[in-house]
Amino acid sequence: MSKVKKFDVIQKLGVDKIAVNEGSTHIVIDKDYVGEQELQKVIKACPAALYDEDEFGSVRFDFAGCLECGTCRVLCGKTIVKQWNYPESSFGVEFRYG
Ligand code: SF4
Repeated sequence: MSKVKKFDVIQKLGVDKIAVNEGSTHIVIDKDYVGEQELQKVIKACPAALYDEDEFGSVRFDFAGCLECGTCRVLCGKTIVKQWNYPESSFGVEFRYG
């Protein structure tokens, strides 16, 4: 994803509040998964732009800005996404509409 697009996403999502549980991720991915088609699919589909590709073609992921939409689970639940749960109580996204 280009830097301009990523900046736009970050700016637009900046009104939401996200309580991150640093001690536990609610999405577990297969970091060793290599599959260009699957990876490009989830990179394009994640509305928070949390998926990316590293220089070796492997998936790079940061759960901290997750919007809990479940798109990655639906698209890649049998490949890249090994485990998907909602965050524990009191953690996660709080949507704000300005
Ligand atoms: S649940 Fe949605 S926002 Fe969260 S990582 Fe998956 S696609 Fe991105």
